Amino acid sequence: MKARERLLAELKASVPEVTPRDALALQARGAALVDVREPDEIAQGSAPGALRLGRSYLELRIEEAVPDAQRPLVVMCGSGTRSLFAAADLVRLGYAQVSSMAGGFTRWKSEGLPIERPAALDASARERYSRHLLMPEVGEAGQAKLMRSKVLLVGAGGLGSPAAYYLAAAGVGTLGLVDHDVVDRSNLQRQILHTDARVGTSKVASARQTLEALNPSVKIVGHETQLTSANVEQILDGYEVVVDGSDNFPTRYLVNDACVKLGLPNVHGAVYRFEGQVSVFWPARPQRPGPCYRCLYPEPPPPEYAPSCAEAGVLGVLPGVIGLLQATETIKLLLGLGEPLVGRLLYFDALQMNFTELQLERDPGCRYCGDGRAFPGYIDYERFCASAVT
Ligand SMILES: [Zn+2]
Repeated sequence: MKARERLLAELKASVPEVTPRDALALQARGAALVDVREPDEIAQGSAPGALRLGRSYLELRIEEAVPDAQRPLVVMCGSGTRSLFAAADLVRLGYAQVSSMAGGFTRWKSEGLPIERPAALDASARERYSRHLLMPEVGEAGQAKLMRSKVLLVGAGGLGSPAAYYLAAAGVGTLGLVDHDVVDRSNLQRQILHTDARVGTSKVASARQTLEALNPSVKIVGHETQLTSANVEQILDGYEVVVDGSDNFPTRYLVNDACVKLGLPNVHGAVYRFEGQVSVFWPARPQRPGPCYRCLYPEPPPPEYAPSCAEAGVLGVLPGVIGLLQATETIKLLLGLGEPLVGRLLYFDALQMNFTELQLERDPGCRYCGDGRAFPGYIDYERFCASAVT
């Protein structure tokens, strides 16, 4: 028998188990129902009046929530396993009458017992996001959704800076940042997450400092590395939307290919001098799928045709405009609002101050997202400078 199974058998022998119906009756007679599930599980519903203490801080929170060690406790989790472990810990803390609810919340729900959806936002979140809460299209449910969302930003540079800044302000719960570079003084003309004092330090660390100062409740996950065929899938996995703010073709193609493989929407942005473009590449979109980047440009241009980084320039405010369009598309995707830029390329000309829209078609013969195609694998293209500077 494995250690885990042996321990479970011991717990089952020592901790009394009650059915969900018994738990409800015990609660009516004064027992405390203690829900030890994680916040994202509890957001889907919990037993009315349950104390939602979570597992990780249970020992630190229980005494304040239940000062009387003689009060009966019924511990519940998702399926009735974690509650056994938690119950044993509560006995060790001195609680005299602790039982575990067999079958957990899954069984509670299937037996048709009452369910309450707890308010997702605490007082400080209500204050911070009050202007979102006033909009019925976002509201409390939408804000809670943003707070549970995970977005990956490829690049903490010209496009990633404004996008990450506003996504953190909007309360997107987890922001991943991929960047292997350090802050250079020549970045500061447009990369607004960084500061003069942080020249020479890691961009990811610098971005984290700015974003956490703006909104401490956002979790920043740093990936201080260059994306390669070996790590791209592992890094993208678990995110819901990818914001591509990369400044080179090898990364742009890797991000595209991994998004195609993982079915993720890829919010693309690029800037050059006074011009920029935005689109959402999402062949796996459930209804009305759109093209991927390779449907438009099957292969990167040869290095000799791409201008060098030193030759290409960009107006400092330009990535601000494009990065914020990317952030806007990201929030729309997370909330399922409006019409995303899937199958459309929005082109911005700052000198004429106009936007032009191009319709983009999915290529059914595309090597990556084409109909019935098996994934052909990742390619590490030779690193050379793209026309885009971010
Ligand atoms: Zn394609």
